[in-house]
Amino acid sequence: MSDCIFCKIIKGEIPSVKLYEDDDMVIIKDVAPQAPVHLLLLPKQHFANIMEMTDEQAQILGRCLKKLSALADGFGLEGGFRLVSNKGADACQSVEHLHIHILGGKKLADKMC
Ligand code: AMP
Repeated sequence: MSDCIFCKIIKGEIPSVKLYEDDDMVIIKDVAPQAPVHLLLLPKQHFANIMEMTDEQAQILGRCLKKLSALADGFGLEGGFRLVSNKGADACQSVEHLHIHILGGKKLADKMC
């Protein structure tokens, strides 16, 4: 999508710190980290959130999460991590391209909100 910041990051039109890339996704560092390790998993296909996800995109996302499980230790997440995907105004979603926050690198708060 031409005006989507994450599509531009995926295409390399906007700089980012890319830690991983394959045919399905990129994993970048969040520009405003909220934990010692704060990464964003960005599926390469543009869709706004899980409500807009097709069955095929759901399969791709499943592959991405499976791959993440193999990569996590290399990102400094040996102690565990939290996955968050904000959807819509109440969740304060600010970028309308589905993304999974990957948070860790310390003991996180035991309450989500
Ligand atoms: P959300 O509020 O769930 O939509 O999350 C969007 C996330 O994208 C925020 O944590 C931002 O810090 C992050 N973000 C926005 N622009 C960039 C960028 N250019 N590079 C890396 N992370 C970004």
